[in-house]
Amino acid sequence: MTTDPVLALTRELISRKSLTPDDAGCCDLIGTRLHKLGFALEWIDKDGVTNLWATLGQGAPLMILAGHTDVVPPGPREQWATDPFTPTVKDGHLYGRGAADMKSGLAAMVCAAERLVARRKFKGTLAFLITSDEEGYARHGTRHAVEVLKTRGLKPDYAIVGEATAAHALGDRITIGRRGSLGANLRVIGKQGHVAYPLKADNPIHRLAPVLAELVATRWDEGNAHFPPTSFQISNFKSGTGANNVIPGEAEAIFNFRYCTESSADGLKARVAEVLDRHLPKYEIEWWHTGEPFLTRHGKLIEAANAAIAEATSLTPELFTGGGTSDARFLAPWGAETVEIGPVNDSIHKVNEHVRLEDPMRLSQIYEKILEKLLPAP
Ligand SMILES: [Zn+2]
Repeated sequence: MTTDPVLALTRELISRKSLTPDDAGCCDLIGTRLHKLGFALEWIDKDGVTNLWATLGQGAPLMILAGHTDVVPPGPREQWATDPFTPTVKDGHLYGRGAADMKSGLAAMVCAAERLVARRKFKGTLAFLITSDEEGYARHGTRHAVEVLKTRGLKPDYAIVGEATAAHALGDRITIGRRGSLGANLRVIGKQGHVAYPLKADNPIHRLAPVLAELVATRWDEGNAHFPPTSFQISNFKSGTGANNVIPGEAEAIFNFRYCTESSADGLKARVAEVLDRHLPKYEIEWWHTGEPFLTRHGKLIEAANAAIAEATSLTPELFTGGGTSDARFLAPWGAETVEIGPVNDSIHKVNEHVRLEDPMRLSQIYEKILEKLLPAP
């Protein structure tokens, strides 16, 4: 058994089966620890989602430590070497659902706050914003809590999200922005007929093919110093009756943009519409927009994170903007300089999710060093 307090708290959290949006008592456990330090607790729950807002101190700077207690389903039990909700130490790793995404991150944050508060007083506010709906629709989680907190005129200076961001070793990569995601379902309406009588039909595949070719060949933007160019990918293409002598009546394509801060969702939609209108007499398109891109401003938090990581690991982190989405997309637009710093992410959402035994404590030390640098002595 370990005496490492960060590992111990990580294990306690893993043993709570918190499948989205069920918090399964994780926030109670964290809240109890924070309350002992003098944090004021507030629950901003909505529709079965648990949102804990805990604050210590007052005024600026306001530093938010943010994360989620929910985990994705473990999948087939037989594919796991150990029970996903029984934290298990094996071969220098801690195994369990949420070990990396992101119960070790939460434990590292709580223990960092405990050590800092035990050591000294500070000026400003240290806050925790923890939700049980990040892996799901994420509508009633951080997004909802931020909307409520905004109405009080609160303006955060910094936010650290404890998502797993490292590629190979703790500290080798932190996330400072994310691409936006915009998708569409396009339906082209033609007229069914016999292949021998094309003049009596209208082939939607023939109409759609040049459209897709043009969209694929389009350079949407050039990217910038932090983002690669916007990418366009067709994920589904469907048409045909199965018969080789029938011109089909309809064709469908589903496509997705991962777009950078050089483009906007409305701009991309307008450019696609221009192409469609030029080629297609009859079509329907349904758009879905699941995330704005953001790039955090480069300020004191990135500087402090770089310095803290160098001290704790002797690595210089890559400033990354790739990967999927996270709740940082709600915190950065609120005005906080926002970074995501967490353990190695190669096992997240997979069977046998794990974290290196030494990483939760080292991550906690990184967080503590950042707090040390940005929360000034009174
Ligand atoms: Zn996560």
